[in-house]
Amino acid sequence: MKDYVVRGTDKGGNFRFFASASKDIVQTASDHHHTSPVVTAALGRTMTAAAMMAQMLKNDNDRMSVTIKGDGPIGGVIVEANTKGDIKAYPYNANVDLPLNEKGKLDVSGAFGNAVMTIMKDMGLKEPYIGQTILVSGEIAEDFTYYFATSEQTPSAVALGVLIDVDHSIKQSGGFIIQVMPDASDDAIDLLEEKLNDFPSVTTLLEEGKTVEEIIEELLGEVTFWERKEIQFSCDCSLDQMERGLISIGEEDLTEILEEDRGAELTCHFCNKKYNFNEDDLQGLLDEVKNNK
Ligand SMILES: [Zn+2]
Repeated sequence: MKDYVVRGTDKGGNFRFFASASKDIVQTASDHHHTSPVVTAALGRTMTAAAMMAQMLKNDNDRMSVTIKGDGPIGGVIVEANTKGDIKAYPYNANVDLPLNEKGKLDVSGAFGNAVMTIMKDMGLKEPYIGQTILVSGEIAEDFTYYFATSEQTPSAVALGVLIDVDHSIKQSGGFIIQVMPDASDDAIDLLEEKLNDFPSVTTLLEEGKTVEEIIEELLGEVTFWERKEIQFSCDCSLDQMERGLISIGEEDLTEILEEDRGAELTCHFCNKKYNFNEDDLQGLLDEVKNNK
């Protein structure tokens, strides 16, 4: 079954929620970048959150990105997502090997180290929205909770999980974001908090065969699902984009590449697709730079 994000509200109108099944997008990212398990978990959790956040945007051409940069061995991750359900992502360092943390889990927090998370939302306005928070836990779900509380003033419960098999393939992946509506009743909030206190992890429930819809219903009771959006790992890189990248380095550097290397190979960070430029291609781009002076 294809990955997706569902969104909806509970019957009482106390909460809105987003939930995502994200096994395939995480598997594809892991395949593209040959990630070690802790990097797969870090990237997968961030991708799952971004997939849901992109569905909070209003317009067809809106897009958003999550950038986490830290002093830990992973260096950072970049995830981009749009309202159409396209997601792409890459880690700075794909191969990080750390001992398990004290809970016996992959040490995502240790992989990031001291880090900052930047959320950029491009909603077609003159300036994109940019929100920045420090990574408080490094386990990602708590960090999004912190981001929503501080940058968007929206109390939220965020759960994200990636379960990795012994052969490093993705066994389960998913998550949810539940947000408190402005006129939610205190009783409803207390009840949800109580339930969340000893609620199993998302991957435990997925592993039991539950869907993310069923997980939401366990937490919120009767709900209305407003929309279900399929999501996919999709990169929109193109030859044109790579050409513009080469042109942007300027006449001097381009001449140097042409004369010394007689060609260039550019690799897309997001999907690892390679673009090759031979001497003639580079000469053509150089002519273009000179003509546009
Ligand atoms: Zn690409």
